[in-house]
Amino acid sequence: MRNILALGEIRAGALRNISFEMLSAAQEIAEGGKITAVLIGCDDQTLAHELGRFGADQVYFVTGDQLSHYTTDGYLQVLHQLAQEEKPDILLFGHTAVGRDIAPRLASRLGRGLVSDVTDIQLEAGKITFTRPIYAGKAFQQVEMAEDRWLATIRPNNMTAKPLDSKTDPTIIDYKVETSQIRTIIKEIVKKTATGVDLSEAKVVVAGGRGVKSAAGFEPLQQLADLLGGAVGASRGACDADYCDYSLQIGQTGKVVTPDLYIACGISGAIQHLAGMSQAKVIVAINKDPDAPIFEVADYGIVGDLFEIVPLLTEELKTALL
Ligand code: FAD
Repeated sequence: MRNILALGEIRAGALRNISFEMLSAAQEIAEGGKITAVLIGCDDQTLAHELGRFGADQVYFVTGDQLSHYTTDGYLQVLHQLAQEEKPDILLFGHTAVGRDIAPRLASRLGRGLVSDVTDIQLEAGKITFTRPIYAGKAFQQVEMAEDRWLATIRPNNMTAKPLDSKTDPTIIDYKVETSQIRTIIKEIVKKTATGVDLSEAKVVVAGGRGVKSAAGFEPLQQLADLLGGAVGASRGACDADYCDYSLQIGQTGKVVTPDLYIACGISGAIQHLAGMSQAKVIVAINKDPDAPIFEVADYGIVGDLFEIVPLLTEELKTALL
């Protein structure tokens, strides 16, 4: 029996899917233990009730003056306090900007081990095995922890979010924290990118590389992504060339994405790029060089000029989808 605590994540007033994916993973390994979710700085309690549908027995609804925006300082204080009071065996986080920032710090404060970037969790004869990529996604490692006192970050879009058959309502615990100790105060947030589909959770990603040649070269990619309800991403080559913002970068030092469909346009397929997208379910590569390494990981390859192929593909799909 394991008691599990998972940090729910909210974006634009809605729970991110990773919150449900973590709770579903928790259901599979709890073996009758209590599943606790935590929502920090949220003002909508209906979101807390939603977590019950995915297995949360209780939800800490944490409020306080400086908590409406994420800060390492504020979240660390809250989660450390909660971990000491609730004493969970396991703490789960998304392998997201928030989870990647907070989990190692909390692990160190609690003196526990951390397994990062988990793509699968298996329970067999009471033992938990994690699968995680190594060598920039070239291989997978299976890890067991010596004891049930650990933290893990879970890669979004890898584990299925499974709602429970019968609807349960979790116990909501209103948890007010004393925030005078929080030293980081967010005055204003200036958004760099336009709102749209969240790249980390998008089911379809259309990504452009240096082959896109300019910021304007991303327009046909955006049209294709819009048609498919997806998001636009980029290689570091494209970001370094200033064709797009670094928030779109996918790869070892960028975002990790696991969409159902990844369309790589004018991307050579460097190992650092593959580290962020090779787990996509279907990969389509468009490149004018038939020897580009991206074709080695692609399920479908189109050799040719992306400026001819992408608009053609968009037109064909428009006809097929309408
Ligand atoms: P290029 O390698 O220049 O490839 C451009 C491709 O476009 C070529 O294959 C070319 O044939 C094709 N092309 C050109 N014109 C057309 C056209 N008209 N139609 C079709 N195809 C065309 N990279 C990442 O992406 N993400 C990371 O997170 C990342 N992290 C890194 C971390 C470190 C420590 C280091 C050292 C590197 C990292 N890189 C990362 C950089 C990586 O090594 C590559 O340099 C980068 O991915 C190359 O980007 P690219 O494929 O867009 O450009």
